[in-house]
Formats: sequence, C-alpha cells, structure tokens
Amino acid sequence: MLKGTIKIVSAAINGRGIASLAALPETHQMLQKTCRDFAEGELKPVAAKIDRVHLYPKDQIKKMGELGLMAIATPEKYGGTGLDYLAYAIALEEVSRGCASTGVIMSVNNSLYLGPIMYWGNEEQKQKYIIPFTGGDRVGSFALSEPGNGSDAGAASTTAKFDSNNYFLNGTKSWITNGYESEASVVMATTDKSLKHKGISSFIVPKPIDGLELGKKEDKLGIRGSSTCNLIFDNCKIPKENLLGEPGSGFKIAMMTLDAGRIGIAAQALGIAQASLEVAVDYASKRLAFGKPLIKLQTIQNKLADMALQLEAARLLTWRAAWLKDNQKPYTKEAAMGKLAASEAATFLSHQCIQILGGMGYVSDMPAERHYRDARITEIYEGTSEIQRLVIAGNLLKEMGAQ
Ligand SMILES: Cc1cc2nc3c(=O)[nH]c(=O)nc-3n(C[C@H](O)[C@H](O)[C@H](O)COP(=O)(O)OP(=O)(O)OC[C@H]3O[C@@H](n4cnc5c(N)ncnc54)[C@H](O)[C@@H]3O)c2cc1C
Repeated sequence: MLKGTIKIVSAAINGRGIASLAALPETHQMLQKTCRDFAEGELKPVAAKIDRVHLYPKDQIKKMGELGLMAIATPEKYGGTGLDYLAYAIALEEVSRGCASTGVIMSVNNSLYLGPIMYWGNEEQKQKYIIPFTGGDRVGSFALSEPGNGSDAGAASTTAKFDSNNYFLNGTKSWITNGYESEASVVMATTDKSLKHKGISSFIVPKPIDGLELGKKEDKLGIRGSSTCNLIFDNCKIPKENLLGEPGSGFKIAMMTLDAGRIGIAAQALGIAQASLEVAVDYASKRLAFGKPLIKLQTIQNKLADMALQLEAARLLTWRAAWLKDNQKPYTKEAAMGKLAASEAATFLSHQCIQILGGMGYVSDMPAERHYRDARITEIYEGTSEIQRLVIAGNLLKEMGAQ
C-alpha cells in the first residue's frame, strides 16, 4: 500500500512540477506522511538497537527498496521511483528522523552510487549497475577519500594502470560507507598523477572481486548501523568497459556527485535535528521543576525557539538547493549552504536537547545522546564545514566579480 502511495506521488510530481517553495505541494506532503509513518513504525523502534550493536538494518533497507526509497530520483525505466530531488530530501529527512544510520545508507545508494552512474553511465552500465541496485536487495558505495587525502580529493594516489583492455587498480580508499555490504562501488583513481586532478578517472568496481580486500570495520562515534571501512586494491583487474565517463573526468564526476550528495546529507541532518526537537519538547512538557513543567520556563522556551529557528532556516536552504537542482539551475553554492546550515543545526539542536533533558540527556535510556553522536558526522563527510565555507565563499566572490 505504501509503495502504491509513492508511485501515485511520483506520477503527480512528474505531471506538474513544483511552482513554489512557500508551501509544499500536496504530492510532497503525501510522500512526507508515508515516509514518516514508515519511520515511526519500522525505524524508530529499532534505532537504539541498530546503534548499540552496530547492526546493519538489512530488513529495513529491503522494505525501503520495496517502497521505492532506495532509488528515489532514478527514472522508472531503470527501476527507480522517478521522483525529484525535493522529494528525495523530504523522504531522507523522515527516514533519518527515525534512524540516522539507515539514512546514510539510503543517501549513499541514492546520490553517491546511483547518481553518477545515471548521469555518466552508458546504457550497458545502467542496465548492469543501476537496475539491480534499486530494490533494496543490493546497495552501492562511493570511494573518493584516501588515508592521505580527504578534503584535498584531487591529490588521489590510488592508481589505475591501463594494460590490454583492462585497468589495474592499486592503492587504498578510506572511510567507505556501505563498504562491507556494497556489491559495487564507484571508485576514483588516477591514471596519471602528474596531471593532478585532471588525471583522475572514475570506475565501476563490482564487489567482491579478486585484488580487492576490505579493511577493518571502523568503530564509530555515531551512525553505527552503517559500515565504514577501507577498500584495499592490489592489482585489481577492472575491464575497460567499467570506466565511467571519459578518461580524466573522475574529479569532475566526484565534485558534481558531491554537490547532489550534500543535499542528501543536509536532509539527514534535518532528520536528526527534528528528532532532537521532538525529544526536547516531549520531555520538557512532562518534567516538573519548581512545581511546573520545564516547558513553562522562559529559559527553556528561548532554547526551543532558537532550535526551531535554526532547523527551519536550514530546511528552507536545503529545499531551495533541491529545487534549483530539479529546475536544472546551478546549485553548488546553495547545496553547500544547505549542508552547512543543516549539519550545524543538527549539532546545535542535539546539544540543546541534551541540556534540556539534564541528566536524562546523558544516558542511553533516552535517544538524545544518540542524536548528539549521530549529528557530528554530518559536519565531516561529503566535505567538512570548513570546506563548505570555502565552496560558498568561492562561488560568492565569483558571482560578485570580486575574484
Ligand atoms: C563515517 C564516515 C563515512 C565516510 N564515508 C565516505 C564515503 O562513503 N566515501 C568517501 O569517499 N569518503 C567518506 N568519508 C570521508 C570523508 O568525506 C572525509 O573524512 C572528509 O572529507 C574529511 O577528510 P579527512 O578526514 O581526510 O580530513 P582532512 O582533509 O585531513 O581535514 C582535517 C581538518 O582540516 C580541515 N581542512 C582541510 N583542508 C582545509 C582547507 N583547505 N581549509 C580549511 N580547513 C581545511 C578540515 O575541515 C578538517 O577540519 C567518510 C568519513 C567518515 C568519518
């Protein structure tokens, strides 16, 4: 029944487009409700366990695939749901509100794996590496970072050497989300280091494959239900048919992929922030201090007002970036703004949530401390907050002719 609703939403969105962000179109409101119901029923009740035992939410991902949430913006022709990026941002916020680990798994599959193959892949690559990854049975990953370079992604030292119709990959990609479960990965490697970022190419690497080993599963502060590990390449043979896009276009593919991915991480952060606000309001309504509920204290009300302000401002920035992308307008600066605002909002709201709960905020009986731990990563991956500021300033100065 849920899948039916999402398919109806898909048809309606494609039928009329989005006129305004002042109020969400009815179609997007329906999608939001469907995803909220799913998160309430299927994610929120298990989120604490997923975090505690580092459990990959396999069954939930499968159900999300059946609902169409693992390939939201992928055209129906390739097994996706055929919705727009605003719909993706809304759905991902709701999923992350229920469970941030599940949110990042969904985000990586949608924006970082399917996104670049859909945009740069040829028909054969789409048939082989998109369609099987839309239904929740298989997930993909994206491998750009390395032990020696994260923010400075153009300095890639993983090499791809061409020989007799194959590329041979050598080197280590680090911090790869979905590293353990993914059955294919979009991997950046350099064919000519002297060309710096212009020597980087992009490859679709099926997993498992000879010459590729996985590093240890990282023991993380938050989003502990998603796996993160190194991909270690030792003469890993990749047929030339698996080159994605043109040789030397890997850095451009990575940067454009991250522009879209940042809308996803912003949405994940919004979900964590929204969940924090809800926990804080619920607790403050019930907890008595000095003979009345906390919520009656003006100091607490001021905190809640600041939390709501940051959250809603970040949401509008995120939706604006999605709207620009959906309307084929430049959105690099706006995606960076959305991600920066939303990730800092998630950190602020989850911090304030703990403060409002007092001692109860500090223990795992309540979800506040998990939200605080989960929020932190949104300021680091897909470009740190410092890098988002560089992206915003660079674009701003260009727009203002001040370079
Ligand atoms: C849980 C997790 C999941 C991840 N998933 C993926 C994934 O799926 N795929 C992938 O490719 N990567 C992934 N990453 C990697 C992530 O994108 C990088 O960690 C991030 O880009 C930062 O790189 P770094 O860790 O090397 O930090 P560094 O680049 O070493 O930065 C360290 C500090 O210096 C600052 N800094 C660096 N350069 C500048 C500058 N020019 N100006 C100002 N400040 C600067 C940074 O902002 C940061 O504060 C993941 C990371 C984590 C922790």
